This record gives sequence, structure tokens and C-alpha cells, in this order.
Amino acid sequence: MTDKKAENNLLSRKAELEAIIQLSGENAKPVELDQSKIGRLSRMDALQGQAMAQATVRRRQNELQRIEAALLRLAAGDYGYCVSCDEEIAPKRLELDPSTPICILCAEKAG
Ligand SMILES: [Zn+2]
Repeated sequence: MTDKKAENNLLSRKAELEAIIQLSGENAKPVELDQSKIGRLSRMDALQGQAMAQATVRRRQNELQRIEAALLRLAAGDYGYCVSCDEEIAPKRLELDPSTPICILCAEKAG
């Protein structure tokens, strides 16, 4: 994969994530805890849903950060090399996840 293609992949994924994060901003708002409005069980449901929504938001923001970092490595000419062991990352792996900072071996070691 060329740097140009990697950059395109990263930028389009970044735009996608930013759009999703903006659209889902509504879901991450705190749950209404007024017991007179909703029953105990549905409040627990709402809290559970909120926790899940927050986890999803965190995951997306995390991916966004990895993409930003990958774009920086791209600009620095370090893209495609494992940040942990400096070996080349397999092109297949980069195609699946262009933002991945480490090679498969390091990823497996990290568990
Ligand atoms: Zn490595």
C-alpha cells in the first residue's frame, strides 16, 4: 500500500468517525435521574444504555487518536513501521486497520 493510499484511507476514516461522534453526541448526554418521571427498572435500563453509549464514544475517540497519530507518522515518513520493534508492518494488516501502530507480533505479545 502506498503512503498516498494509506493517507486517503486514514482521512476518510477520520471524517467518518468525526461525523459519527458528532451525530451521536446526543446519546452521550447524562440520563435523566428523576424517579418521578421514569420507573426504577427503566432507569437502570437507561443507565446501562448510557454506559454502553459512553463506551462506544470512548472507543471511537480512541480510534480517532490512533488515526491522528498514524497521520503524523505518515508525515514523518515513519508510517508502516512498528512503533514498538521498528519492523515493517504487514501490508495486509495496514489495509485492515490503517491506523494500527504495531506489527502483528507485538500486538500478540501485548495480548
Ligand atoms: Zn513490532
